[in-house]
Amino acid sequence: MNVKHNIQLKPYNSFRTQGYAKLFCEPTSVEELSEIIKQYPDEKKLVIGGGFNLFFTKDYDGLVIHPQMKGTNIWYEDASLIEIEASASEDWDDFVAHCVDNHYAGLENLSLIPSTVGAAPVQNIGAYGIEVKDVITLVRTVNIHTGEQKDFTNQMCEFEYRDSIFKRTGDYVITSVVFRLKKHFAYREKYIDLSQELKGNKYPTIREVRDAIIRIRNRKLPDYNLLPNAGSFFKNPFLTYDEKEKLIKLLPNATIHNVNENCFKTSSAFLLDKAGYKNKRNGLVGTYEHHSLIIVNYGTERGQDIVNFIEEIRQEVHAQFNIWLEPEVRMY
Ligand code: FAD
Ligand code: NAP
Repeated sequence: MNVKHNIQLKPYNSFRTQGYAKLFCEPTSVEELSEIIKQYPDEKKLVIGGGFNLFFTKDYDGLVIHPQMKGTNIWYEDASLIEIEASASEDWDDFVAHCVDNHYAGLENLSLIPSTVGAAPVQNIGAYGIEVKDVITLVRTVNIHTGEQKDFTNQMCEFEYRDSIFKRTGDYVITSVVFRLKKHFAYREKYIDLSQELKGNKYPTIREVRDAIIRIRNRKLPDYNLLPNAGSFFKNPFLTYDEKEKLIKLLPNATIHNVNENCFKTSSAFLLDKAGYKNKRNGLVGTYEHHSLIIVNYGTERGQDIVNFIEEIRQEVHAQFNIWLEPEVRMY
């Protein structure tokens, strides 16, 4: 196995910040991955996929694993459903497109999310009312410390909003994911923006839903090749009833989604706007003009510049609304 030394990580994160990996490898199979982990027992280790949800603030003093495992195969199929295993390094949207082309339903709302298949369960990617946990049956992994293989059923993954056992522990390299998809597609309204884009079409095809989401995302989100970013920087905060009431006193128009009797979700983008961070720029870092939740890199290579900007935002939102925003993006 070819392990490289002193590799620049700027091309491997969509924020385009600098940092060198002491060691860097690209295993193409589960066996190769296990072997290399066992070869370097004393090095700390980090897996990266497309680098769309992380950035570097310094050099990485350890082994960076950038898996290159490709391929899909059918696990099970009958008249109504199909189970497909996709390898970790498959491009997420290519896989979604393949499923939509074949009328396999369940992933279409997650169209155009920049990701590898292997990273999708890590933060339980979600959009337009769907989370990937809804269609995952099995996550296949290798322990990052021992090189041993372990399969996780859906329940073992401990999926939560933008979270999972994989994100919390960092102990596993995901090598493939098994998805259970339906062969019959029926649109159910879950997200008002999407229904509006479908212009009142109550019975869209799976292809029409994917196309509508691609149009919305292309309109709203910056191209990370032109304006480096990592998507929404903060998670949306969940509030108790009392916290929600206090927020409404300060911001009567606050967006509130009821999760259950004592749990309410508000919008981080709205809080940022109200705190004065709409299209705000501080040096080479700022909020995106069409979406405050997206922090944009206007030309720095220093991850610390991004950290300083987001700390300033967190302090200001807390001072004004008594809410600590929690980053979704990982910093190393
Ligand atoms: P990376 O950024 O490389 O890694 C993310 C985390 O996963 C890291 O902690 C890494 O260590 C770990 N990881 C990566 N691969 C593996 C693996 N094989 N095994 C174990 N751990 C691994 N997210 C959403 O949920 N919904 C959205 O709608 C959405 N929209 C976005 C839009 C834009 C423009 C951008 C830039 C990002 C968006 N994101 C969204 C965030 C991002 O797309 C997801 O977090 C995605 O899953 C990241 O995939 P990746 O392969 O780039 O992972
Ligand atoms: P939006 O439609 O402007 O909505 C703002 C927030 O309100 C969203 O974050 C969403 O929460 C919440 N929301 C809207 N309708 C809801 C409903 N019916 N029930 C519960 N919550 C609701 O959001 P947007 O920023 O343009 O993004 C559209 C979708 O793509 C969202 O699902 C968002 O999560 C996803 N997205 C994610 C990222 C990322 O990097 N994580 C980047 C871009 C877009 P949810 O986030 O829980 O849906």
